[in-house]
Formats: sequence, C-alpha cells, structure tokens
Amino acid sequence: MPVLMRRSLCAAALLALSAAALSPAAAQPGAPPPAAAARTPTVEKGVFFPESFTLANGMQVVVITNTRVPVVTHMVWYRVGAADEPRGTSGIAHFLEHLMFKGTKDIPPGAFSRIVAKNGGQDNAFTSWDYTAFYQSVARDRLEMVMTMEADRMTGLQLSDAVVYPERDVIIEERRQRVENDPADRMREQVDATLHVHHPYGTPVIGWPQEMAALTREDAERFYRTWYTPNNAILVVSGDITAADLKPLAEKYYGAIPARPLPARSRVSDPPLSAARRVVLEDEEVRQPSVQRLWHAPSYRTDADKQAYALQVLTEVMSGGATGRLYRALVMEQKVATSAWMGYSPVSWDGTAFVAGVSPAPGIGAEQAEAALLEQIRTLLDKGVSEEEVATAKRRMLADAAYARDSLSGPAQTLGASLATGQSIDDVESWPVRIDAVTAEQVTAAARAILGQPDHVTGLLLPAAPPASPSSTAPASPVSAPGKEG
Ligand SMILES: [Zn+2]
Repeated sequence: MPVLMRRSLCAAALLALSAAALSPAAAQPGAPPPAAAARTPTVEKGVFFPESFTLANGMQVVVITNTRVPVVTHMVWYRVGAADEPRGTSGIAHFLEHLMFKGTKDIPPGAFSRIVAKNGGQDNAFTSWDYTAFYQSVARDRLEMVMTMEADRMTGLQLSDAVVYPERDVIIEERRQRVENDPADRMREQVDATLHVHHPYGTPVIGWPQEMAALTREDAERFYRTWYTPNNAILVVSGDITAADLKPLAEKYYGAIPARPLPARSRVSDPPLSAARRVVLEDEEVRQPSVQRLWHAPSYRTDADKQAYALQVLTEVMSGGATGRLYRALVMEQKVATSAWMGYSPVSWDGTAFVAGVSPAPGIGAEQAEAALLEQIRTLLDKGVSEEEVATAKRRMLADAAYARDSLSGPAQTLGASLATGQSIDDVESWPVRIDAVTAEQVTAAARAILGQPDHVTGLLLPAAPPASPSSTAPASPVSAPGKEG
C-alpha cells in the first residue's frame, strides 16, 4: 500500500545528516588524526552525474545510469504536496496518492500494483508537503510496461464513489494507527503546528481528522485535474539505462500527453513571533522521553542569507556520530543522555526547521537533560566552532557523498526531491563544492542567527504515570514542569 512520508529526509541533506554514522574511522576514539588540510584533495563538482532533458510538453526527465544490475527504478514526481492543498481539505494530496491506484479505463481498480508484482517488480508512492511521487522498481525489460501504466494514470484516472469512500476509511485508519496510536508522532504533529502557526507546514500531511472525514470524490478530482499534468512532473529513472535509450520511450509515453495551464504554488508565510512556546505531551505509552527544540530555518530555496550549507556543517560538528560535540558532552562525559542530536534538511520549498534534541539517560529528569543541551547550545553561540571541527566535519560529509551514488533508489530520491523543491541539477551536483567552501566563521554566524532566534518551540515527550490505583499513595512522578527557558 502507498506509504506516507513525513519529511523529505531522503534528499541531499541526508548526506550530511548521516555522514558520521557511516564513517567508522572518524567515529573511533584513538583513530589517527585527520590528514592536514593542506593535503586535502581539491573537491570537484559531481555527486550523481545525471543526464537530463525536457520533453516538448515541459516534463523534466532525469537519468542516472548504473549498470551493475539489469534493474531500473522508475519514478514520477509531481510538484504538489500537502502544503498546496486548498484550506479546509487537509489530507487531499495524500488521499489522491491512494486513489491513483484506483484504476483507469485500461487498468481496473487495485490492479496496478498487482501487475507490477506479477512482473517481478515492486511499487509504491509517497506524499510530502512539497511533492507526491510514484515509483516502481522492475527488471530493465519491464520499464516500458510501467511507463505505459504510469503515463496512463497521469490523465486517465477514473474515480467512482464505490472506490473513493471505502478508501477514505483506509486513510482515516492509517492516521489512527500512525499518529493517534504513537505519542512520538502526535508530538511531532503538535510541535509542527506550534512552529508553523500560519504556514501549511503546520498542517499534517495526512490531514486533520475532521477534514479527512469530509473529503469528497470531487475534492480529489479537482486536485488531480489542477496539478497532475506533465508540465508539473519530473520523470527520474535510475539504473541500467542511458538517456539515449530512455528518450524515445519518454517521448512516446509521456511526451504524448498535452501540457495544461498550471497555477503558481502560492502559500502563506509564518509571521514573526517573539514568544518562545512549549508543548508538553505526557502519555503512558512513552518508553523513551525526549526534549526537542525547533527554530525556523531557511530551505535551499529561501536561503537569502546563505546559511543552508553552513547549517548542515553545523549539524555534523554537533551531532556527527560519536565525535560530535553533543554525544561527547551529554552521553560520554556528563552521562545525562542516551542520545543527543541536531537535525536540518534544507530540501523544502518554503522555510523549514532546525532541530536540537536530547533523550535523557535512565534516572535523569527531562529538565536536567534539557538544561545540559541548552548549556551546549549557549557554549556554541558564545564561542563558535573551530576551524578544525569544521574541517573534520566537512571531510566526513564529503566522504559520505562519494558513497551516495552506489544505491539505485537513493540518487533518484535525492534528485526527485531536490528538483520538486526548486533546486536545479547543478545545485545538487555542486553540493560537495559548496560544503567544502563553508568556513568556521560562516558556521558560527549561521548558528547564532538561527539558534539565537527567540520564537523557538520546545517539545517535551514524557511518560505519564499510569492512573493511580486507590491504594497507591506515591506522589506524582517528578518530571519537569513547563516554564523554564534557556
Ligand atoms: Zn497512505
């Protein structure tokens, strides 16, 4: 069944977010010191080395050749997601993603995935705030078959009440299972809604329950007719194929679909707020408490002050595996946390969030762990980062980027998400050069600009004591009270 993707975590920023975990040499205490900066080889442009062309109807096509196995991943990305939904119809982008499997004149409802599976392939789809994507992984000789089917449902979707309304129950159940039954997910939803008080990133991709229950077939058809058109789509194919081989197929199947007028993506912005906000969720189901703080941060597209690359280096300095500052200080030395992290993905159409978080060690109160995290942030803002920390972080990030091309679906994910959020192929391919150019001064300046903002949101996810039995006289658990600000 289609899956829902919460954030565009797959994209280029992941190279940064996960770098240290994949770099055992750098993470081992006692590893040899990094090579002197003078011997660092020149960093050159190029991560995935894609080929690209645009069809006459405006559909962009990207090919990433990888001939190691005779398999291809075929993806169609639409530049539309939950943040483009008309107000009052939250969840319609994800609902339509489900309904795209409900048939055309040629493919009966539910048959799409069955046909792909019968041909030895896998398929799925996902929805984010900024894009909706459909993909199939198949043997090279089945590529034409999935292109036929995907092109067919770009214009030929046929919806009836008999398939739409039972599927609405499916998404409502999906929300119940994923969000309502999971305190960490409910927390994420509350924190997003508190950070983005006006921008649609504060509305969950899956939708608010009362609006999901009222979604109609007409809502889905309107959204489909408005946004699902070749001039709003990106075809990404990775694997055992070249652009020269793909081009005639792309022209035959997708090039035959006429372009249609497309509205501009028009979204409201969050207002500046001067107040810090605090969200506390206590639930018996919470096994691992956590505290996180979020600040507004630019995406690549909104990065007027050129902070996006510096902020990625910052997350690597602070939380790049076992050598990151937060892990060393809070987990190893002070032993107040089981984990501590910073996170940031600039792959987003509008402004996004920078996050810092901590999970308290057993026996440590959330407030104590939070105070220790905030102390690290204060030190960061006071003293900045060193040249050596930045050089080490960049080396790890660049080493990781060098491995990113090995995966079949990873590069297709990264390029699709990047292009759907306003980046160019040149931006993606220039990532190593731009990371390499980041200086310690820029990292410190970006940290001060973003983590120094007053209107942050702090979320506390805490275990609730089970309802007291009549015989129990134990006092309430000594979890932190809201109110403390750092
Ligand atoms: Zn779903």
